[in-house]
Amino acid sequence: MGKAKSYDVAVVGAGVFGAWTAYHLALRGASVVLLDGYGPGNSRASSGGESRIMRLGYGRDRIYSESAHRSLKQWLQLFSSRADPGKEDYQYFRPTGMLWLAREVDDYCQAVLDNLQTIGARYEKLARTELDKRYPQVNFGPVRWAVLENDSGVIMARRAVRAVVAEAIKRGVTFRKRSVTAVPSQPIVNSVSLDNEELVFAERFVFACGPWLPKVFPELLSELIHVTKQEVFFIGPPAGNALFDSSNFPTWIDFNDQVYGMPNLDERGFKIAIDAHGETFDPDSGERIVSKHSIETVRRYVSERFPMLANAPIIETRVCQYENTSSGDFLLDRHPAMENVWLAGGGSGHGFKHGPAVGEYMANLMEGGSPEPRFSLASKEKVYQRRVF
Ligand SMILES: Cc1cc2nc3c(=O)[nH]c(=O)nc-3n(C[C@H](O)[C@H](O)[C@H](O)COP(=O)(O)OP(=O)(O)OC[C@H]3O[C@@H](n4cnc5c(N)ncnc54)[C@H](O)[C@@H]3O)c2cc1C
Repeated sequence: MGKAKSYDVAVVGAGVFGAWTAYHLALRGASVVLLDGYGPGNSRASSGGESRIMRLGYGRDRIYSESAHRSLKQWLQLFSSRADPGKEDYQYFRPTGMLWLAREVDDYCQAVLDNLQTIGARYEKLARTELDKRYPQVNFGPVRWAVLENDSGVIMARRAVRAVVAEAIKRGVTFRKRSVTAVPSQPIVNSVSLDNEELVFAERFVFACGPWLPKVFPELLSELIHVTKQEVFFIGPPAGNALFDSSNFPTWIDFNDQVYGMPNLDERGFKIAIDAHGETFDPDSGERIVSKHSIETVRRYVSERFPMLANAPIIETRVCQYENTSSGDFLLDRHPAMENVWLAGGGSGHGFKHGPAVGEYMANLMEGGSPEPRFSLASKEKVYQRRVF
């Protein structure tokens, strides 16, 4: 029997972080195998949802505004190489605009505005009178003003991840639908075991396992990454009502109420979700059924903010999970006890848009690039205190 092939890098997990990491490593000439037990953009993965917000605003966190700005360029470049305007399936990015709803005194939204200016993004500041005029379908209540990011919008998440994997494969990456079941606890890892008992050999390993990271490295990460159940609702506007379509309404966030939503894309319904963290969740065995409490919360919010939808039905729901670090900062670092193993995760409910920048960062880090302290393992705490929104 011939000797098993050894890759330069094995990337475990083909969510948005792993897919972009594999892509960037392949661009640099590495031989890469990308492994995922459930497949790219699967329904259990955090990247497996229908849609994700692509925004540039991050309050005072300029590091994430800049990362999102860099990432948007790469997303658009990758999508344009696959564009087929005649096919909806290829419209991975929807430039809906992104509206920040602000209170009278609103430090977060003020900082969003300042940072958008600094990074040179296009935006509009809208007074309440302008909001009422533009969006009569909304009862703005305590909202006094807003910021509209003109060039932001929505990435069709599951399809986008699959597109990144397809592009990575074109650049030489080998994809295998296999789960890594054992990682030897050694200072230098030569191989990992798969679910079919095969071994995969590589010089270096990246574990981009999202909410599964605490299962893969329980001793290291079970107290540093908290996996929470997150529920998403799609409300069906009345027949003939286009006011909630993307031509009439943008994607929006109201962090004061911890709620965000998207217009009715591809006639799947008006999306609304609660950003507050839910109960602890198991990504393998968790039943993906929304709770009665969340249904009531969403209905209450919709009736108040979007009165036209007060009696509109919930036409679809999804349950996903956030993989939260203590602060909400990503975890992108080398394993402290395994010299040739890297960790990429901790997306914390906002990671999707950053896939390209994360992939690039990981490739740089593995080549000896300088680490960002906020992404380090050392900066992660056991006591939970969310700072990034
Ligand atoms: C409801 C919801 C809304 C969100 N909204 C936004 C948003 O609007 N904007 C935004 O930017 N971000 C958003 N996020 C966050 C974003 O989706 C995540 O941060 C991001 O998708 C995390 O990607 P990942 O690659 O780290 O993890 P995942 O996508 O979960 O990928 C991990 C992969 O690893 C695989 N895997 C795990 N263990 C193994 C193993 N042992 N062997 C092989 N494969 C393995 C899994 O099958 C999976 O495919 C949201 C998340 C949720 C849940």
